Amino acid sequence: MGVQDILSRKAGVIVGDDVRKLFEYAQEKQFAIPAINVTSSSTVVAALEAARDSKSPIILQTSQGGAAYFAGKGVDNKDQQASIAGCIAAAHYIRSVAPVYGIPVVLHTDHCAKKLLPWFEGFLKADEDYYKLHGEPLFSSHMIDLSAETDDYNIQTTAHYFERAAKMNQWLEMEIGITGGEEDGVNNESADKDTLYTLPETVFNVYKALAPISPNFSIAAAFGNVHGVYKPGNVVLRPSILGEHQEYAYKHIENPKTKKPIFLVFHGGSGSTQEEFDTAIKNGVVKVNLDTDCQYAYLEGIRDYVLNKKDYILTPVGNPEGEDKPNKKYFDPRVWVREGEKTMSRRITEALEIFHTKNQL
Ligand SMILES: [Zn+2]
Repeated sequence: MGVQDILSRKAGVIVGDDVRKLFEYAQEKQFAIPAINVTSSSTVVAALEAARDSKSPIILQTSQGGAAYFAGKGVDNKDQQASIAGCIAAAHYIRSVAPVYGIPVVLHTDHCAKKLLPWFEGFLKADEDYYKLHGEPLFSSHMIDLSAETDDYNIQTTAHYFERAAKMNQWLEMEIGITGGEEDGVNNESADKDTLYTLPETVFNVYKALAPISPNFSIAAAFGNVHGVYKPGNVVLRPSILGEHQEYAYKHIENPKTKKPIFLVFHGGSGSTQEEFDTAIKNGVVKVNLDTDCQYAYLEGIRDYVLNKKDYILTPVGNPEGEDKPNKKYFDPRVWVREGEKTMSRRITEALEIFHTKNQL
């Protein structure tokens, strides 16, 4: 018994009920699925390869900035046109290649603050167009992040977009309370300490607003987590408070089906300990975002290659073995970019072990 036994689509991008079934199964078996930020076909490949070799499902996501990069850094992002085109291109690319890796893939978009809502409108329109043709949305899921706004505005606006997503049986992730650090130009480095821990009743307010629309949603509640890797400071990670959200919801829902009625998401996973991940997963975290560590891992392979092969890449022809020796096999991007894919893949493989995702297919 594994993930593929419970899904109607065993490999490739999954949508609709399959996404919920995957997260329910993850909660039941106590594992979380890493969400990898992808910015190019090369980083997609690194993630798919790690998941395939570890017999795991995987979540691939583009941030607004990552999506613009996917379209090309030279494209003007006026009205979010590069971010919209880039995440749609990533979606079609991932939909095309994922089946040959033989694993289920959740295709997601990351964050999206208030000022980026035109981006959200753009990809949701693409979902609706795709839905008309294929009976399913282009993306498995999206995230909306209005955590910098008031809770009322956050919850109401999220519910508004969730109604549109729910018509396509699409998953929606939202954030309430603040993840510290910086992401997509939204800087929370000086956020008030109390807002870095969401209260159980606040999380339940989200549940009350969204559950009548559809069961397909998850909440990124703040528990002292921070984007990026920072020196230990005065904000302490408290994944145990996620258990309080579940208890509170369990107590206040009529006839709850499970002890953990809420699907939770862990942002800012880079640099956390095994124990912290285990506590978070035990408390119903089904998705862990891992970006910063992957960025560094991708660099490592390329950096080491360039440093070690320096004398073979300074000129197209001529190296320590002879003045007329060709260097083509050293400077071909398939050789040195590949080294970055390998080290990024290795880092994701580690995450799949740490989150107990390995061998869950
Ligand atoms: Zn995040």
